[in-house]
Amino acid sequence: MSLPIAVPSSKRPAATNSCRVCAPLGSVLAFRGLRGCMPLIHGSQGCATYIRRYLISHFREPMDVASTSFDESATIFGGQSNLAAAIKNLVRQYSPEVIGVCTTCLAETIGEDTVGILREITTADPDLPPIIHVATPSFKGCQYRGFHDTVEAILRATARGGERLPHVNLLPGPVSPADLRHLREIVAAFDLPLLMLPDYSETLDGPSLASYAPIPEGGTPLAEVADAGRATGTLQLGATLADGPGAYLEREHGVPLVKASLPIGVRATDAVLESLAAFAMESAAGTSASAPITPAWLSAERGRLVDAYVDGHKYVSGKRVAVVGDPDLAVGVAGFCAEIGLVPVLVASGALTHRMATALDLLGLAPGSFEVMEDADYDSIGRRVAELKPDLILGPSKAYPTSRALGIPLVRIGFPVHDRIGAGRILHLGYRGTQRLFDEVANALLDHQQDSSEMGYAYQ
Ligand code: SF4
Repeated sequence: MSLPIAVPSSKRPAATNSCRVCAPLGSVLAFRGLRGCMPLIHGSQGCATYIRRYLISHFREPMDVASTSFDESATIFGGQSNLAAAIKNLVRQYSPEVIGVCTTCLAETIGEDTVGILREITTADPDLPPIIHVATPSFKGCQYRGFHDTVEAILRATARGGERLPHVNLLPGPVSPADLRHLREIVAAFDLPLLMLPDYSETLDGPSLASYAPIPEGGTPLAEVADAGRATGTLQLGATLADGPGAYLEREHGVPLVKASLPIGVRATDAVLESLAAFAMESAAGTSASAPITPAWLSAERGRLVDAYVDGHKYVSGKRVAVVGDPDLAVGVAGFCAEIGLVPVLVASGALTHRMATALDLLGLAPGSFEVMEDADYDSIGRRVAELKPDLILGPSKAYPTSRALGIPLVRIGFPVHDRIGAGRILHLGYRGTQRLFDEVANALLDHQQDSSEMGYAYQ
């Protein structure tokens, strides 16, 4: 086993420069992947403002998020009337196909019976659109937890069982819009009908429009989600998820679940493609369709990636790295680093899963060669990075102060990336995303070497 050095936040007096983002933010992100959905945050207005600001600065897209705007009275006596009024206003202004209600720390702390209140509201007005509720207090978890709990809440409210259908459910986790588009492309290459939940590939990275669309086009239709319980199988991405929404579908509707690490690197992408090929075979069973083979363009991308590994090996081999991010992304990227000869010395996350060290061991990282920090803040990560002195950091823009202070180059990945354009278009997944990541890692190391050399660089 490796040596996890997770320091639970309960043992620290305070978080300094938090690495966690709040749970309702993860929930809003997931609800944005449902077609025609308007997220409604039950609690104080500042939470909604913070969440909107954080998401807008990353995705550079408009972000309407409703709030029940608790005041002193609602904080003491409960926000029943606020919730009823908010739903009424929201339906009038946005005409949503579905409303996603997530709760803040405040609503949960006062013990608001949100389920009971919503039952009363929907009973009184049966013409309301479907309302999906998820409890997301940030003292229970961060955006990672809020995201997955919301996906499960959507499935619990919507998925129905019945005769098997040929499609596969893909639960991708909180990846980028570019990642979602690429996953869709990969599954299509296996001629496999797909239900992806959530899908914010268009709602959070859409085209410029002549007029403002308060609820952007795109997302998975709720009517399609209803078929999730009849799928051939579910592919759930994320190495640190204990059960996750896919386990609910398996338990409740008998949909076979395959869990896989995020497809970052050759090995991890090969594994996901093998799972898709198996699902395609299962889906086509009893039809005249031929057995699926890996599509030629994917084989070509794999070949180019392996060639790049060979070309760039001398620049990356033996360099030590620190990886920071959402637990599944951090684990997936650390696995990729090990695959290309980088040495992950620190893998850190603001989330607390108790599973990162095991997931990294399973990916084949040499036991004892790396440290894991869960439930970490950037102050403690920065101090450990200063001690370990890696050659490179891979992480969100919030790792930039550490990178700058210590003169260690930073390759930006994951969420949030607030200090660069194109965060929603960062492709991490598949051979193609790995190729982009590999080039960026190698070039960041070369950049740093040239910048810190007295001679710089000259090509005669
Ligand atoms: S109070 Fe809770 S829900 Fe509101 S912004 Fe802070 S962590 Fe998020």
